[in-house]
Amino acid sequence: MQYYSTNKQAPLTDLEKVVIKGLAGDKGLYMPERIPSINADVIATMKDKSFQEIADIVAQAFFGDDIDSQSLSDIVYDTLSFETPVVHVNDNIYSLELFHGPTLAFKDVGARFMARMLSHFILRKGLDREVNVLVATSGDTGGAVANGFLGVTGINVFVLYPKGKVSPVQERQFTTLGKNITALEIDGTFDDCQALVKAAFIDDELNKYMQLTSANSINVARFLPQSFYYFNAYAQLDKIGKSDGLVVSVPSGNFGNITAGLFAYKMGLPIKHFIAANNRNDVFFEYLRTGNYNPRPSVETYANAMDVGNPSNFVRILDLFGNSHQQIAALISGYRYANEQIAETMCKVYNTRLYLLDPHGACGYQALADCGLKPDETGLFLETAHPAKFKETVDHILDSDIEIPAKLQEFMKGEKKSVALGKDFEGFKEFLMK
Ligand SMILES: *Cc1c(COP(=O)(O)O)cnc(C)c1O
Repeated sequence: MQYYSTNKQAPLTDLEKVVIKGLAGDKGLYMPERIPSINADVIATMKDKSFQEIADIVAQAFFGDDIDSQSLSDIVYDTLSFETPVVHVNDNIYSLELFHGPTLAFKDVGARFMARMLSHFILRKGLDREVNVLVATSGDTGGAVANGFLGVTGINVFVLYPKGKVSPVQERQFTTLGKNITALEIDGTFDDCQALVKAAFIDDELNKYMQLTSANSINVARFLPQSFYYFNAYAQLDKIGKSDGLVVSVPSGNFGNITAGLFAYKMGLPIKHFIAANNRNDVFFEYLRTGNYNPRPSVETYANAMDVGNPSNFVRILDLFGNSHQQIAALISGYRYANEQIAETMCKVYNTRLYLLDPHGACGYQALADCGLKPDETGLFLETAHPAKFKETVDHILDSDIEIPAKLQEFMKGEKKSVALGKDFEGFKEFLMK
């Protein structure tokens, strides 16, 4: 399968190059030339299959032309050694718990998959120079990518994060690992970090000097595997007779997660409607309402992994629907929540002993509570991270002392090591070329 750039000014490219490059030469995002469909009767058999088996079906359909079947299965089985269970919350609302991986956030799926696929391509190609992964994080991506790539031969990872704007445990997840992982503490916002990464990819001198790629959701190998768990969730709901009239609510920041859901939909997964749940960073909400897209600097919220003012995957959504605002707004609704509302939802759901939500999942849940689900519809929100990843915020809101899972406690034992940098590109470039 060939991939084109959303800017249409770069040549068609195969998967191997797409994964190694990350961003297209014309600054566009890569899109597959066609979206394979998965037959309804195959989808109907998924309810009796494991997550790994389901993911393998989807992966073979997408990547099967470009990578031999056994290697691809190995990547899938190795990546998905944890579950993504669907849990009933109340009435017809369910939570898709995506936080059972190594860093307790959904990004583990894409990060691990990408690390394994990239490593496969590097070996297959016999690349003689190292590949340098640049990743900007608002909190969760850094940990997932660093842990996904830790110790992978031939790959160096640089994690750029905004100083003082990620939670202590998030910070530990990428500053304590050492080996091939370097943490860069940027004096700026997440958008500044993202801008530095983007600037690096288009700097000729830097790209001649070193092989760079991105592990943000602009990379096809990072965002596309996220479609696997939409199929898995559907299968679990199908098994209990709750898959009809499915409304899926996705807490969204850079919109990689919901874009993967839209790919699942285009592959034939029967999802009736999508909700993009936002915090105060609401440019997509405004786009749905007005048809105008006006990126803005991000503002800080309780749901910090969604503090994104210019979501990079917006262009993929436009491209998927031929730039039709009408089609996009017919399939996707937008909701946005201020901190007070996020806190109120978390308290209400916790105090009635329904469920412990994290601030991101709270946006997803509340959007389903507000959208007026009909009795024959099922609402599914993506619980994108374990609440303990945001322990300070969650305890402050709930007046609680929630338990930290053993996996997270391990990270807290390590010693933080990072390199402090400003938000200017020249300083960053100089550091990389040193
Ligand atoms: C990254 C992240 C999001 C946003 O996902 P996108 O794919 O960027 O839209 C939501 N919640 C959590 C916990 C995250 O880490």
